[in-house]
Amino acid sequence: MLAEATCLMKYDDANNLKSKLQSGMVRNHAGAQELAKGYTAGIRRVEIASIISCGILVLFVFCCLCWHFRLNQLGGVLVNAVLAIIVADFLSGLVHWAADTWGSVNGRFGRTFIRPFREHHIDPTAMTYHDLIETNGHNCLLTVIPLMIVSHQLITLSDDKIAATCSSYWFVFILCIFVTLTNQFHKWSHTHNDLPFWVEKLQDWHIILPKKHHHIHHVSPHETYFCITTGWLNYPLERIHFWSTLEWLIEKTTGLHPRDDDLRWANKTD
Ligand SMILES: [Zn+2]
Ligand SMILES: [Zn+2]
Repeated sequence: MLAEATCLMKYDDANNLKSKLQSGMVRNHAGAQELAKGYTAGIRRVEIASIISCGILVLFVFCCLCWHFRLNQLGGVLVNAVLAIIVADFLSGLVHWAADTWGSVNGRFGRTFIRPFREHHIDPTAMTYHDLIETNGHNCLLTVIPLMIVSHQLITLSDDKIAATCSSYWFVFILCIFVTLTNQFHKWSHTHNDLPFWVEKLQDWHIILPKKHHHIHHVSPHETYFCITTGWLNYPLERIHFWSTLEWLIEKTTGLHPRDDDLRWANKTD
């Protein structure tokens, strides 16, 4: 009950943030402007290559899996599909938490992978102006290698061996699909106009990340509700204090303070 009340209070704060965004206050934020400049032509080239490779591999693996599919595998495939979505949601939370809480935008890694997270906290609606490539490029880069491994196995293994482990290939395939689409689901959770009807239905049914649910994360200091694929794990992880316990452990063992860099960018004025 207390957790739900806290969440509702946070949602009120998120609505305040939304009105600030609509008034354009954060658009002029010095940190947001500097971080937005970090999106370079080189990063975009890598994103285009990732999206093309990922698209070809997804199509190939899907065709192979359909070719090998037998009706008696349906139960196993459905169970693995649900597990894959839960794992994708957890991984989205883990990566999001790590990038929000630790590290800095310095160096090539920081500029490429951490910068978008810093920009997103200062200017959450900026991502709604990103095109398909900027929205999905990073996540496609993550799924290319597992899709290549599955493709290689589906080409080289015998039909009997593929049939025996078919459920696990479906698991990896659906995991890759949901990891690939995570930032698209995230973008839709910040988009308030002109969403397709079916996307709003998927959000309403909580099959993908709903708007109100994700806005709980967008309350400074951004310390909870990190899962952004479906958000199914946010409430249980909050109940067991998963992220705060992890941060406490890391702080105790390394002396690093969570969200130091994130707060520095949030308070930037020049
Ligand atoms: Zn965040
Ligand atoms: Zn967000």
